Amino acid sequence: MNVEPLGSLARTHTCGQLTAADAGISVVLLGWVHRVRDLGGVLFFDLRDRYGLTQVVVRDEALAEAAKRLRPEFVVGVTGRVDQREKDAVNPKLPTGEIEIEARAIRLLNDAKTPPFPINEDTPVSEDLRLKYRYLDLRKPRLQQNLILRHRAALEIRRYFDENGFLEVETPILTKSTPEGARDYLVPSRVHPGEFFALPQSPQIFKQILMISGMDRYFQIVKCFRDEDLRADRQPEFTQVDLEISFATEDLVFAILEPLMARLMGLIARDAPHPFRRMPYAEAIATYGSDKPDLRAGMELRDVSEPFRTSNFSVFRGAIDGGGEVRGIVVPGGAKYSRKDIDNLTEEAKQLGAAGLVWARQGEGGVQSSALKAAGEDIIRHALHTARAAAGDLLLLAAGPHALTTRVLGQLRLSIAKRENLLDPSRFEFLWVVDFPMFEWLEDQKRWEFMHHPFTAPLESDAARLESDPGSVRARAYDLVLNGSEIAGGSIRIHDQRLQRLIFRLLGMSDEEAKARFGFFVDALEFGTPPHGGIAIGLDRVVAILAAEQSIREVIAFPKTAQAVDLMAGAPSTVDPRQLRELRIRTE
Ligand code: ASP
Repeated sequence: MNVEPLGSLARTHTCGQLTAADAGISVVLLGWVHRVRDLGGVLFFDLRDRYGLTQVVVRDEALAEAAKRLRPEFVVGVTGRVDQREKDAVNPKLPTGEIEIEARAIRLLNDAKTPPFPINEDTPVSEDLRLKYRYLDLRKPRLQQNLILRHRAALEIRRYFDENGFLEVETPILTKSTPEGARDYLVPSRVHPGEFFALPQSPQIFKQILMISGMDRYFQIVKCFRDEDLRADRQPEFTQVDLEISFATEDLVFAILEPLMARLMGLIARDAPHPFRRMPYAEAIATYGSDKPDLRAGMELRDVSEPFRTSNFSVFRGAIDGGGEVRGIVVPGGAKYSRKDIDNLTEEAKQLGAAGLVWARQGEGGVQSSALKAAGEDIIRHALHTARAAAGDLLLLAAGPHALTTRVLGQLRLSIAKRENLLDPSRFEFLWVVDFPMFEWLEDQKRWEFMHHPFTAPLESDAARLESDPGSVRARAYDLVLNGSEIAGGSIRIHDQRLQRLIFRLLGMSDEEAKARFGFFVDALEFGTPPHGGIAIGLDRVVAILAAEQSIREVIAFPKTAQAVDLMAGAPSTVDPRQLRELRIRTE
């Protein structure tokens, strides 16, 4: 069998289309050889395309002899007749499982090298190998389904925004720095040596300017670029669904987002009952030790300071007297934990910065606790009661400043939830986290930094304290959290140029610096800026959650590794010295 041209061979059906209702018709299928089974005399192979798999049977002796040369990933055209399979040969797992194609002719359109990993098996393959040969990886049905889901999501998003009066407007990629808290990717200008464009960390400034321009409602499905240390759910370039609304309030932004999330959940036949719950940031930290709590896990953090306030247990009492607290979580059914389990949790707590962990439980013969001697039985019983621990539960206590106890217990809560399988993958818990602090203190630089971005408005009730007590000011910023992932974040913006200038100053930017970086924007604010606000959704994350994938790399066609490398294209790479000379760049 030699490689032949396609000629006039035209596909009549896809490999996922034919059923028993088509029995008897003549068809032409085009696709990849998925798997070959030579039974001596008859030869079977599965033909694969994006739409599915169809079994081909070759009974003709001469044709079967030739078809023996077929290998996985060869590209072929099959002409033949649709036959209904015998009852016992039906494959109920395949939509085409009731039929097979009795081949009359097979045209080899291209051969293929043996792939570095099989496409037709789910054997574990290292991610580096998968990414290097991404074109082969993408032949796998799972990844194809993910890209199809992503396409559907994008389509649904565009439909939804169009129905709601939003315009999709493109904003520049070669632009000036937009601060979102990460490093910029810079692009040198050849025409202006020594000058650089920055790739946008988000279209933030442009979408606000579109509001100043009177566009009223803007959205865009847009690539953003952030040069930051990568984690499993981060990529140096990623996609946002970005939007901005004039005359917006928090309620209006939420009322736009919630039905959209419901429509996206509809893509996987799920519902998203709304309005979603709202929770102030301070409550999320106190109750879950996280600003993106996974509500599926239960196990709320509780203040258990009271029983220890006057106890003899000096470690806890000292922590409380020093302005800290005792906080605890109750592990349901955790009384069965072995000494070793508890030691492991204590080790984890220490790595997170805690001095240690105290445990307590209601045993059969009375209360038991690692602090029984030091604190006494009454105090421990009081602590179990305060934390609402029932018989069979395990109470874990940490002491210290609020920021420490919440961080430590928040992390323990998640690792216990994973261990105990409390994170039901079929549950979807949406939550708005609101009232974030406006600023965080950077101890090393001895200055305030924005929590969201410098264009976020303060809560009106807090604005008077901006200069006297910036740390206490809350922002009109909100995040949408789904099952412990931040899937969207946004804010009501500053539309008053005087307030914007003050915020730049509080962030340690001199007027000159602010002018050099954002002069055009502050100028624009002076020309009748409507109150406005918006949000951006992390599309990669949302699609990964819909596809039940752990990593966003599984829903991006050509992702980079955790080291920010494109293994397939081999980027980044060195460039021709002539290009560098033109840009007046020296690498040493
Ligand atoms: N630009 C923000 C971000 O990328 C989103 C927003 O405030 O609308 O997080």
